[in-house]
Amino acid sequence: MLDFFNISERLSALDEKAILKTKSVFEKIESITEYNQLKVLRSFINHRVSESNFAPTTGYGYGDKGRDDLDEILAEIFGAEDAIIRHTFASGTHTLTVALFGILRPGDKMLCVTGRPYDTLIGVLGCDEKVDGSLADFGVEYSEVALGANGMPDLPAISEAIKNEKPQVVYIQRSRGYSLRPSLSIADIEKICKTVRDAGSNAIIMVDNCYGEFVEKQEPTEVGADLMAGSLIKNPGGGIAPCGGYIAGRKDLVEKCAFRMTAPGVGREVGASLGHNRELYMGIFNAPHITGEALKAAVYASALFTEMGFGVTPTPNQARADIIQAILLERSDRLIAFCKGLQSGAPVDSHLTPEPWDMPGYDDQVIMAAGAFTLGSSIELSADAPLREPFAVWMQGGLNFHTARAGILMAAEQVLKCDNL
Ligand SMILES: *Cc1c(COP(=O)(O)O)cnc(C)c1O
Repeated sequence: MLDFFNISERLSALDEKAILKTKSVFEKIESITEYNQLKVLRSFINHRVSESNFAPTTGYGYGDKGRDDLDEILAEIFGAEDAIIRHTFASGTHTLTVALFGILRPGDKMLCVTGRPYDTLIGVLGCDEKVDGSLADFGVEYSEVALGANGMPDLPAISEAIKNEKPQVVYIQRSRGYSLRPSLSIADIEKICKTVRDAGSNAIIMVDNCYGEFVEKQEPTEVGADLMAGSLIKNPGGGIAPCGGYIAGRKDLVEKCAFRMTAPGVGREVGASLGHNRELYMGIFNAPHITGEALKAAVYASALFTEMGFGVTPTPNQARADIIQAILLERSDRLIAFCKGLQSGAPVDSHLTPEPWDMPGYDDQVIMAAGAFTLGSSIELSADAPLREPFAVWMQGGLNFHTARAGILMAAEQVLKCDNL
């Protein structure tokens, strides 16, 4: 590190301590990575992937073998009956929207059991204000069960709500998103699913799986979830997919989503892959490894900033269920310093200086660091910090641990400089 970058002696000593502390955690991450990589490889072999799978189609895209095979491969990897993976999903929010509109009908009730959903879903639900075309606009009722005092799902309250409201869809958000609550492990999700069934409900259990793919050996669809969705510019795109999303789960439900994705009666049969199949295959093939690298970056940042005396969540040794790391820097000048430092260590746009801005939807200014090959990609090293209580930065990604460590050290150096240390 010192051969290439100007890292102070003080920080270099903290880095060494942090690296020592991460050793055993990295071993655990690597064993999960290996398991998931082999699972992916076996599925590629089972489906006899060959160069013809990468051939582009145009127009309607009928009979796109590469596209259809990848759907099957993804379903197998996720232990699901069926899946659709498409570059034509514009974002994670779009993918989740297609899934929700696919399975909900006017008059249905949706119950979110993990508190307030991710910001961009609020407009989709139309639960705070009238939004044209939202689920509320189509007559879908929404309610939520708040998280317990410890930030974990409140199982007794969930059981109560299920019995009282008899929802058609129960919604779980796995990742912490940009809050300080813990992300949900596969075991936690299994407990929620069991609670729903024990309450006598046969509601569709849907999981927002963003940031969670390949973090553990299993996925939500293997422990009771009926449907899940995620974004390809996060974990499952492996840093290679240029855009897109996936939906996986029960066959009848994936079919409903496919009808909503294109047209009822047409569904998954259309949709030209244009030439993106190869990137989607390579992305999935690399995804377990890349997710492991991002996890190592998160664990390292957690260890380094602990050594620097800051609060972090999760702590270095805590079990993880997503790739997000929150660091409590306590002051807005440190948040700005962190993001500027991280940006200066990015492979793309390192020469740019991020500034706080009035981001739509936020009452306070937000600063972001992102120097990625894919715009907005958050499987690449990136950070966001709203300049408000609790003055935390949320960091995620890193295509490889070595360069992520360099970026994190540059962020740390700027934070130390803030305090003239
Ligand atoms: C990223 C994310 C989404 C989708 O966000 P997009 O920016 O639309 O891709 C939804 N839920 C969670 C928890 C997320 O992390």
